Amino acid sequence: MPNPPSPSASSAAPPDLIVRGKRVITPEGERAAAIHIRAGEIVAITAFDEIPPAIPVHDAGDSVVMPGIVDPHVHINEPGRTEWEGFSTATCAAAAGGVTTLIEMPLNSIPATTTAAAYREKLAAAAGKLSVDVGFWGGVVPGNVAELHALWDAGVFGFKCFLVPSGVDEFASVNEADLRAALPELASMSAPLLAHAELPGPIDDALAKLPKNAPPRHYATWLASRPHEAEDQAISLLIRLAREFKARVHVVHLASSDSLAQLRQGKADGVAITVETCPHYLSFAAEEIADGATEFKCAPPIRSRENREKLWAGLGDRTIDFIATDHSPCPPALKLADEGDFLRAWGGIASLQLSLPAVWTQARSRGYSVSRLAEWLCASPARLAGLDGRKGSIALGFDADLMVWNPDATFCVEATRLHHRHKVTPYAGCELAGVVETTFLRGRKIFERGEFSSSPAGHVLRRGVA
Ligand SMILES: [Zn+2]
Repeated sequence: MPNPPSPSASSAAPPDLIVRGKRVITPEGERAAAIHIRAGEIVAITAFDEIPPAIPVHDAGDSVVMPGIVDPHVHINEPGRTEWEGFSTATCAAAAGGVTTLIEMPLNSIPATTTAAAYREKLAAAAGKLSVDVGFWGGVVPGNVAELHALWDAGVFGFKCFLVPSGVDEFASVNEADLRAALPELASMSAPLLAHAELPGPIDDALAKLPKNAPPRHYATWLASRPHEAEDQAISLLIRLAREFKARVHVVHLASSDSLAQLRQGKADGVAITVETCPHYLSFAAEEIADGATEFKCAPPIRSRENREKLWAGLGDRTIDFIATDHSPCPPALKLADEGDFLRAWGGIASLQLSLPAVWTQARSRGYSVSRLAEWLCASPARLAGLDGRKGSIALGFDADLMVWNPDATFCVEATRLHHRHKVTPYAGCELAGVVETTFLRGRKIFERGEFSSSPAGHVLRRGVA
């Protein structure tokens, strides 16, 4: 049924662009509609044909018009490790993948974003290079409690920590005592704590039990060295602390389906705990990873096929809140492709440009709708960062961040068509469904069928700044 005319469509100044389509994904569901955009904002959503004369119209036809993807887990590594990834390349890849907002992780850059001064360095490094909107997480490391308020006031959206060594020296891991010092501060600001949830104890035990001759080229060796108990015990600790301190805690990149029950129970008890998983945990299975294929290495590791299906069930019943990429590339040499040594290769998977087709390919084969996809990739991640009044939905007053894509078209992932700085990815050669056609950022077309708009139009997003 067509919507009644919106008062703002007729009484206010005319829109400067209309994007319309037969399949527009709104919070109420999918329908034919016309999105009226003025000064980068959605000012009305009307029936498909209800458009004033002489206004430019982008007609998406039968393609899906969805909110731009909000990816709150991206490592860009600039400044300091710009040879790994940088603001220009990462945000071009984002635009090509329909990602219009990303929140950058505080580690792998040098300095790490653990002080207000380091945050200012990050802002300076990003200036003029952004093709999509980018915000930043701060970091909790041992001894930086005194910096947390300053980082929050400066504009970070929350704080990341590691419960095991992070892989880089600039970002030390925290223990329970460190968290007990930081969480009262975070709770007083209602700032979320994002935690890499693995504990060192079970990993040390597993390594001690690993046979001396366990072949490092076998994926099973890597998997055995990062047992699910490391995740499960860390998540248990996080739920306990979130409850005790009445703090907001978010588990990043959940791989262990064994933790779904305790997460479900924590939520049912009213604990402010949320959780994300990643496209690679939903796409791949340990049984299928070839010897030496270190492009699949990440921590926690990709687990069994059975585990993957349980993660899908966790998304289905809303125990898992959303999907983020954990895009974490490195120079190809660090992946040790020649040796194929899973224990020594850098862990991290590059997928920023591919989150939509990677997730959609798996989701549609399990019967999920495009509306559920939009919840997992857009609306729910926006909530974690407190951007849910502005990003992640096609609704009045929201930024006109839109992606137009064809859910039935398929393509083979070719490394040369990726805009990440480095092209190593486990998706290379995969046949995926879902082709991004056009990306709009605040009403401006930034990508269309392989071509980018001429100048970077992205903004730095700061908490509390409109
Ligand atoms: Zn990460």
